[in-house]
Amino acid sequence: MDMQEILTQLNLSADELSGGTLKVHSPRDGALIGSVHMDSADMTQDKIAASVIAFKEWRMVPGPRRGELIRLLGEILREKKDALGASVALECGKIYQEGLGEVQEMIDICDFAVGLSRQLYGLTIASERPGHKMREYWQPIGPVGVISAFNFPVAVWAWNTALALVCGDSVIWKPSEKTPITALACQKLFMEACARFGDDAPDNLSQILIGERDIGEIMVEDKRVPVISATGSCAMGRIVGPKVAARFGRSILELGGNNAIIVAPSADLDIAFQGILFGAVGTCGQRCTSTRRVFIHADVYDTLVSRLKESYLGLSIGDPLDPATLVGPLIDGMAFQNMKAALDLAKSNGSKIVGGERILEDKYPDAYYVNPAIVEMAGKDDNIQEETFAPILYIFKYTDLDDAIHRQNDVPQGLSSAIFTRDVLEAETFTCESGSDCGIANVNIGTSGAEIGGAFGGEKETGGGRESGSDSWKAYMRRMTSTLNYSTALPLAQGIKFGSDD
Ligand code: NAD
Repeated sequence: MDMQEILTQLNLSADELSGGTLKVHSPRDGALIGSVHMDSADMTQDKIAASVIAFKEWRMVPGPRRGELIRLLGEILREKKDALGASVALECGKIYQEGLGEVQEMIDICDFAVGLSRQLYGLTIASERPGHKMREYWQPIGPVGVISAFNFPVAVWAWNTALALVCGDSVIWKPSEKTPITALACQKLFMEACARFGDDAPDNLSQILIGERDIGEIMVEDKRVPVISATGSCAMGRIVGPKVAARFGRSILELGGNNAIIVAPSADLDIAFQGILFGAVGTCGQRCTSTRRVFIHADVYDTLVSRLKESYLGLSIGDPLDPATLVGPLIDGMAFQNMKAALDLAKSNGSKIVGGERILEDKYPDAYYVNPAIVEMAGKDDNIQEETFAPILYIFKYTDLDDAIHRQNDVPQGLSSAIFTRDVLEAETFTCESGSDCGIANVNIGTSGAEIGGAFGGEKETGGGRESGSDSWKAYMRRMTSTLNYSTALPLAQGIKFGSDD
């Protein structure tokens, strides 16, 4: 599929993609995909006001009926999976297979949300007072503001929107300024779902804000948006989190990771190898869950490291839309500069480096393809505290599992982690109270690639938010406790006597 065909299949017209001030270039070859119109501050205010109106109507629609809208969205995503997956590859540079995977995640969360629409369960709680009942209700909360990162240009919107809509909320989405076109495509698909659904989907139920961080900031500071779900760098979260807290809003922060794999001596080295390779070079190292560090036991270190190095030499790197490609480009020149700076630092510290060079420059002078890099860390006590959003794998040797777990945890971020071992004691230690401190702790599976059924998110500077499955939906609702008295007396809680004679 060429660029025009992809855009046509997604019903994006030339008019919509021209004449605007936001120029969008494909990381595949630097070609201009479109020049889209940005929202102004006034337009942003208007969209927030419209979202409040939509919310007030939508919250009155029964949950299972709200679920029907998401069922239709999932149906349309199935129909458009190929084109949307290709547009993801075109705009953010991940390979087509991973683009399809991202759309499949959207479909999966829609299916999950449809079921959830009939399961927004509260509790009944035993009251301490005679003739009383206590209940807990979950109520829609209001417009949900979604801010997303470039590397998951469509799935993050779906994780949030599918849940928020079945919960009775409206949505305003500010996608990354690097990937507004796939966002416009999603908006089209959503409008199609609304058209199939009928009149009880209010206008402006899910809207899109095209712009840079200043537009996101307007939404972040606005009290009319009670929930802000923000996905991106720790630097972004450090600004957004306090701003939302200052107005007593709720934030769901999904920020950077610095994910590690531990390979124990008993590990199945074949699957450990595969897990590390996909985690480290998949999406060209541009996943929040990418494997950035690996701690390998001394007994298996040489075998595994030489296998990894050899495989790095044979990676097929190139056009993300070519089915043979495993590693696409970095998003832009800045990402390449950041990668280069991190490798220069490692070199100056005496580490051994394989890969890291820019390649295919003659063929794609305006794109940034690189050989993924392996850095063998020089000293035992070294650690890597920063997330460099590029395919750099730092390798450490260990001899003591507790020490490896300590070093894995000894970073500011806490998103994803994994151990490869066939020793049940080691596996259980890794997932116990004193084991991994991350939101995700896998055994014999790499750090990258989560299913939607579980709650997704991380601790520490990763922000503490949870999205997607399990009970993440509760963050999109407000909890109401209601005590009902069906007796003729009014006993006070805790047996308090207030002005009575006895
Ligand atoms: P980024 O922080 O540069 O931008 C993310 C989004 O935040 C963009 O839409 C941007 O416009 C917006 N933004 C930036 N500053 C803002 C502000 N002050 N107020 C409001 N909005 C603001 O991140 P990126 O380069 O697009 O994405 C890469 C980063 O995202 C990595 O750190 C990666 O680990 C992280 N990420 C995390 C997850 C997760 O679920 N934990 C998922 C994907 C990406």
